Amino acid sequence: MLESLLERINQQEFALLSEDIKSSLADHHRWMQRINLAIASREPIQEHSFIGEDAHLHCHFGVWLRSILEDEGFKNDVFSDIDELHQQLHEQARDLLTSFSQTQQFDAEQYSQVLDTQRLFFNTVLQVLEFSVISTNQFDPTTKLMNRRSVHTILANEKHRMQISEGASCCIAIGDIDKFKDFNDQYGHDLGDQVLEHVASTFNDTIRRHDSVARFGGEEFLFVLPDMTIQEASKALERVRKKLASSPFDHQGSPLTITASFGVTQLCRYCDINGSIKRADVALYNAKNRGRNKTVCVDAKRLIEDLKLCTVDPSPEELEALIENHCVIAEL
Ligand code: GH3
Ligand code: MG
Ligand code: MG
Repeated sequence: MLESLLERINQQEFALLSEDIKSSLADHHRWMQRINLAIASREPIQEHSFIGEDAHLHCHFGVWLRSILEDEGFKNDVFSDIDELHQQLHEQARDLLTSFSQTQQFDAEQYSQVLDTQRLFFNTVLQVLEFSVISTNQFDPTTKLMNRRSVHTILANEKHRMQISEGASCCIAIGDIDKFKDFNDQYGHDLGDQVLEHVASTFNDTIRRHDSVARFGGEEFLFVLPDMTIQEASKALERVRKKLASSPFDHQGSPLTITASFGVTQLCRYCDINGSIKRADVALYNAKNRGRNKTVCVDAKRLIEDLKLCTVDPSPEELEALIENHCVIAEL
């Protein structure tokens, strides 16, 4: 599941990943061309980078792959698969070249194995390249956060994780800047954009590394908080809220206080993702109604207990009223 990389890698890292893959792969392509040439011209290769036992560790691709495998942010099975294929390719090429230099004959079957492994290796690496190129475009240019489309991929990924693992959980939250229209009207749209950047970086710097925050709409942000209870998530968002309120935006030397309101709830294992977003949204509007610059949470487990008592399915309006009844102000 390459999608899990979206939760840990930012736009710059994806752009760098794409460039690194292109140059390392081009290097491997040249390496393979040398082998083809040696076979066609019947001239054995004795160089260590082709027949050395540890050649796979020292080629351009191998050095790059080691750095990726050692980086927690890139933890994904696809890189272990690539590591295996890369090593296998070097081993098969070494066997082919060694027997070629000993016998002056090349084994067509061995050669065809090398080509098969090479094809599989390239295809797997190209999948990662394609994903990283697409992912580079999944970020919002103003805030550099993920955009709405990519956060939906993360939510679907989290829901899948919860369905296959009983112990897994995830909370979500929506944050919305308070009275942002007034701010735009007073200071102009360009400064408004700078405030959006300031808010985005404050949010991003305050959450844990494996949490995510995306720009969900104009001045709305969606947080994804894996493996947190609703109590922990409420506290985490309270910390984010306080951090923003105490980090004024610097406007030509004068500090401007920016605040936001937040709605927090769980992502449900078996319900529609939009239902969970709707609950967070009701909690957010409750926070606005209670005077803004507040975090309000709705515990989905308690809500579901109440829903079980309903003899008929509630209308959308009744459901919203029921959610409102479950809105609780978060405290640290
Ligand atoms: P509330 O506290 O109720 O959320 O009030 P608000 O003024 O923040 O909410 P409202 O929905 O009335 O206005 C949202 C404003 O956000 C209006 C729009 O001009 C501004 N906005 C949305 N997207 C952008 C953007 O990309 N850049 C700038 N500068 N402003 C934006
Ligand atoms: Mg809004
Ligand atoms: Mg707003």
